[in-house]
Amino acid sequence: MASGQTTTETPAPSPSDNLLPHTPRLRRDILGSGLPCRLFSGIGKIILINNISNNTLMKIGIKTYTDAIGYEYLRKIASFVDFVEILPLPDDEVYKNFADFDIPFRIHAPHQGQGSNPSDKSAHKRTLKCMEVAMKAADLFDSPTIVVHPGAYKAPGSLQTAIDFLKKYKDKRFLIENLPAESEKRSELCSTAEDMARIIKELGCGICLDFGHATLTETATGQNYKEIIDGFLKLKPKYFHIMGGSLRERVDHKELFWGDFDIAYFRRCIPENSVVVLETPHEPAMQIKEIEFLKTGKRI
Ligand SMILES: [Zn+2]
Repeated sequence: MASGQTTTETPAPSPSDNLLPHTPRLRRDILGSGLPCRLFSGIGKIILINNISNNTLMKIGIKTYTDAIGYEYLRKIASFVDFVEILPLPDDEVYKNFADFDIPFRIHAPHQGQGSNPSDKSAHKRTLKCMEVAMKAADLFDSPTIVVHPGAYKAPGSLQTAIDFLKKYKDKRFLIENLPAESEKRSELCSTAEDMARIIKELGCGICLDFGHATLTETATGQNYKEIIDGFLKLKPKYFHIMGGSLRERVDHKELFWGDFDIAYFRRCIPENSVVVLETPHEPAMQIKEIEFLKTGKRI
């Protein structure tokens, strides 16, 4: 990834210089990143965001895969977030290149997209590999947390199998993420607070509350999504995934301000001292607005 570096001289200091990443290489990258002018003309707001970041207890990050696209995106956004949640891909060691960035990282274990499924014995060989890379990445980046999908994809799956599989790691960094029950035929594990309570008790670990997954579960269960979220909040999550989406259209992972998700309600559900990951499209100007909203409740 080092080949993407620019050799441009570091520009003369400017009043906004202290906003830029502190390593010389990344300072150059941001300045030469081709970010839209409105991003730089709105530099006052960026100062505001950074000041607020120092004054609030909420930590806001974004999520990305450890591929070349994710690496390039971090060159644009890294200076505006408190941390980055990375999903290390299991078939290469590209995740190690992310150590180029002088920011804290949190780890999301590879999931169904990479073939991981703790709830399915026939997938355990692949799941072992996925969990191994997740734990190696967490060690490398000193991440205090590893978000884990418990599994079951378009199949019944077994919560007990997932518990038995994950228990042997005895890893207190695990945070089990609630997954969506999207329909009677497609019900993923830990879509209910009852299942979540059982698995975190057995594993002695915490929970990652994904607002989008909890909201979409209303479609399959008929239970109001705010009641579903309330059930998860009783398990005292301190780590959240947030995004925009539409309950009506059954989609998530959209821009925060898109669709009919009640993002103001989501925000009110987040306690102080929480860690919040934006699972929204990678567009720097928009994600900066989303961060501002999470920090202040205001839309810019
Ligand atoms: Zn999520």
